[in-house]
Amino acid sequence: MPKVLCSFCGIQKDRGKEHMWPDWLLKHLNFHSMDLSGTHYALSGKTVSGRQQNVQSALFGKVCRECNGGWMSQLESKVIPIIKALLETPRSKSSLSQEEASVLAVWAFKTAIIRNAATNYRQIVPSAHFRHLYEHRSIPEGIYVDLAFVNSHHGLSGLQSQTLAGFVRGVDQVNAAEVQDGIYNITLAIGSLLLRVICFQNHAYTVSIPDGLELKIVRIHPSQTAGVSINLSQTYSHPSQIELDAIFHEYD
Ligand SMILES: [Zn+2]
Repeated sequence: MPKVLCSFCGIQKDRGKEHMWPDWLLKHLNFHSMDLSGTHYALSGKTVSGRQQNVQSALFGKVCRECNGGWMSQLESKVIPIIKALLETPRSKSSLSQEEASVLAVWAFKTAIIRNAATNYRQIVPSAHFRHLYEHRSIPEGIYVDLAFVNSHHGLSGLQSQTLAGFVRGVDQVNAAEVQDGIYNITLAIGSLLLRVICFQNHAYTVSIPDGLELKIVRIHPSQTAGVSINLSQTYSHPSQIELDAIFHEYD
């Protein structure tokens, strides 16, 4: 059995096989025989490369068997009914309990960081985020997970970039690049469901959904309320449109 230095537990162990997209999801969306497309975006938001990736080859190799078959597999089992319900038409799921929102957000974070590590896009997720997830089974500070729907998307795809619009404080103008260092913006498109994971870890700032988009996109993490009401009557027409519907600004 080949050994691997696991990105999550940090220990050299027997290698597991984590699919970039979990098997149950591929089956649920009848996607098994199709190719996945991976599109990569440059800082400017322009597409720099695209590559077709076969589902069978879309594996993340830096995970051990214990993590893969243990806590990660438990997380998958917990998220399956939540995602299936969200994908049902007409959208029967109008709210998420606190527990459901938390499971879905952690799953989105896990899937987004594995997606970045498993594609040939540059590695924009620091190794500390993998370790944090393993050690705390939770999402690090400064990471935001939002949910929306898209009406013309089938199967599975993802977008990743380091693009995020916002306002740099006057005091930070001289080191604006530093302030924005470490940003990542990863969208998972799962059938009609969009899950966007944004990382902006400067504690003087926060990331908000711009005003006027309340019927289109909802924050599931961090959540101020006990549960999340999914009262979304508007949808996106392409997964890439959600990417720029977020803004960073001074924490107030
Ligand atoms: Zn491990």
